[in-house]
Amino acid sequence: MSKYVPIIGLEVHCELKSNSKNFSSSKNGEGEVNTNLSVIDIGYPGILPVVNKEAVRKSIMVALALNCNIPEKLIFDRKNYYYPDLPKGYQITQFANPIGTNGYVMINVDGEDKKITIQDTHLEEDTANMDHLSTYSLIDYNRAGVPLLETVTDPCINSAKEAIAYLETLRNMFLYLDVSDARADLGQIRVDVNVSLKKENDDKLGTRVEMKNINSFSTVKEAIEVEIKRQMDILESGGVIEQETRRYDEVNKTTIFMRGKSDAVDYKYYIEPNIPPIKLRKEFIDEIRSKMPILEYDRKNKYINEYGISNVDASTLTKDKKLSDYFESIISFGANPKETSNVITGFLLGYLNKNYKNISDINISSNDFSDIIKMMSSGKISNKQVKDIFTKALDENISVLDVAQSIGTQISDKEEIRKIINNVFNENPKVIEDYKAGKNVNGFIMGLIMKKTSGKVNPGVTNMVLMEELKKI
Ligand code: ADP
Ligand code: MG
Repeated sequence: MSKYVPIIGLEVHCELKSNSKNFSSSKNGEGEVNTNLSVIDIGYPGILPVVNKEAVRKSIMVALALNCNIPEKLIFDRKNYYYPDLPKGYQITQFANPIGTNGYVMINVDGEDKKITIQDTHLEEDTANMDHLSTYSLIDYNRAGVPLLETVTDPCINSAKEAIAYLETLRNMFLYLDVSDARADLGQIRVDVNVSLKKENDDKLGTRVEMKNINSFSTVKEAIEVEIKRQMDILESGGVIEQETRRYDEVNKTTIFMRGKSDAVDYKYYIEPNIPPIKLRKEFIDEIRSKMPILEYDRKNKYINEYGISNVDASTLTKDKKLSDYFESIISFGANPKETSNVITGFLLGYLNKNYKNISDINISSNDFSDIIKMMSSGKISNKQVKDIFTKALDENISVLDVAQSIGTQISDKEEIRKIINNVFNENPKVIEDYKAGKNVNGFIMGLIMKKTSGKVNPGVTNMVLMEELKKI
């Protein structure tokens, strides 16, 4: 029996942030139901759309980050179909001349890099939002006309795991570029998933099945896995896959037939006659390019190469833009980057995880955080004390600097430590006997010193002085 390889292509819709909508001056954002709208959004006759420059600028940022080619002219097309969420009876989109074409993005799956090639990214408008109730539907036109960027991959993804890695990379790109909040729970990012199976040594792709509008990444993963299994079962029992649109049923964990290829709509695309082609001047593109914010990939490399942070820790820090911004802010106040990273990855994230919190719940200013790291670097407080300070401050929601003061600073003074060591010797004559008898007592004595001082002594200095004092015995 020949083996099958999954082939997946993803179409990701992302709502862009902007003040106004893509082709009108209505507000793009929250508002009372059916208040952010104008005659343009609801398709009155005789209206003229005006292109939103900010949406174009943000789309070009994404196209550049995806290493796409950018056309010389911005051209929009009309996609004609009827549905109540599309009051004009057509959607203004880009069909023949997307704003970005033939790009790529690198993803990392289990430590392996893979290049995901991008067919295109194109700017269009979102539809209205519908709520289907038992016998009627509600419609909110606030979303109609919101700038929507659709990014389409080639059929080059081979597993659910790769699909998720790509989606997370793309979502992070939107966040780093600050073009969208990309909140899946608010439908700001939605995915159409195309799945087929290909015979292992065959170049020809199999027939694909499309699942539209999935808005959580974990559901995308499940839907892909379930659909691969369904197709595999059909092919292995000698059946054929039909080209169709299916829906993923999250409750029953199965995909359900919606419509076949013969029901496919002919959208009768043509160039949007109300928007003349707009020249994308080289200076305009260059200006956008020169102001591109740093991306996850570049930040990660900076952490590794400039700060000596490990690959794993650099990934952890940059995977979450908020965490990475917090880290950047802490080191901007002068804290050592590597030591800051160690405290975040070695302690803070574990603490947050254990307490079901995330980085936005933290009430420690980056300036205060930086001060604590500096105290640690200069030996005023120990590693262990840093953990105690953060734990107490976070548990009780109080200032880290106050806690640091109350816990007291680390003892690093050699003579003071020498006194403590001699006190410990005097209080524990048995240990001295053991030492004289040739036993290794260093660890035990260190333990006694730490206990006596509540861990406040500097371990390095203490160890050194202990060696000196033991030699005197
Ligand atoms: P449409 O406009 O009908 O959605 P496209 O050619 O734009 O069609 O393709 C949509 C998506 O389907 C793309 O992400 C593409 O990679 C993917 N795709 C195309 N062929 C296949 C296939 N045989 N198997 C899986 N995905 C595919
Ligand atoms: Mg499609």
